[in-house]
Amino acid sequence: MTEEGRKVAVVTGASAGIGAAAARALAAAGYGVIVGARRVDRLEALAREIGGTAVRLDVTDPASVAAFCAAVPERLHLLVNNAGGAHGLDPVAQAKDEDWAWMFEANVLGLMRVTRALLPRLEAGRGHIVNVTSIAGREVYPGGAGYTAAKHAAVAVTRTLRLELNGKPVRVTDIAPGLVETDFSAVRFAGDAERATKVYQGLTPLTAEDIADCIVWAATRPPHVNVDEIVVKPVAQASATLVARGAGL
Ligand code: NAP
Repeated sequence: MTEEGRKVAVVTGASAGIGAAAARALAAAGYGVIVGARRVDRLEALAREIGGTAVRLDVTDPASVAAFCAAVPERLHLLVNNAGGAHGLDPVAQAKDEDWAWMFEANVLGLMRVTRALLPRLEAGRGHIVNVTSIAGREVYPGGAGYTAAKHAAVAVTRTLRLELNGKPVRVTDIAPGLVETDFSAVRFAGDAERATKVYQGLTPLTAEDIADCIVWAATRPPHVNVDEIVVKPVAQASATLVARGAGL
């Protein structure tokens, strides 16, 4: 508990998008939220807004993960592993090692490092791990191999945790969104705003707040209820590759 008696939540990748929306929604639901990411200026502004705590975190750097986790109290109630994203949309024939290495570091090893470090605190707090994976952890699409392979791995880690934690008071949930309009595509396309905007054209994409809703809902079920997986997509998106653009949806 925080000094004011609130449950404690950690949200990684909270400086933007889904992580920032989740931090706001969890604070509104009564959690004391510790937010982590690399852009500390954004994190500090968010922490001031929601009465939380900002701690710099780079999930690809083991020393940064260790310093971040040292700032978390002995009893942790909720860990939202959200940090991650995609770099590039190249076919395998043109795959860039550095893009793949970053995607595996951020989406898979980062998730493992933060989870491993915080598991004793989660057990002490009868806590809950919510991993933000993706429909890319369940489907594939041309150009997406590096990202889909990393998210398939994140789903495998999440499902493994559910088995390994059976018998312990720690819940495990996988939230798997489809198209959510955030900085995700601007990051994927290295700041090419025009290309990023096209991803969300001709349909109503999900918002970061829609995913925050899913996270808060899963986290606030009674303690005996484990929501294993939530797959959530815009109505216009039936799969990673089947999107009805221009249908007024
Ligand atoms: P976003 O707006 O680009 O946010 C990504 C967040 O991750 C930022 O706060 C970023 O903060 C943080 N981050 C990136 N690398 C990090 C690192 N090494 N250490 C710590 N934090 C790091 O994108 P988003 O859509 O909200 O993405 C959040 C999660 O949802 C990602 O795991 C993404 O793969 C997943 N997802 C997104 C979509 C979508 O359509 N948007 C769909 C399915 C799943 P800093 O740059 O400040 O570190």
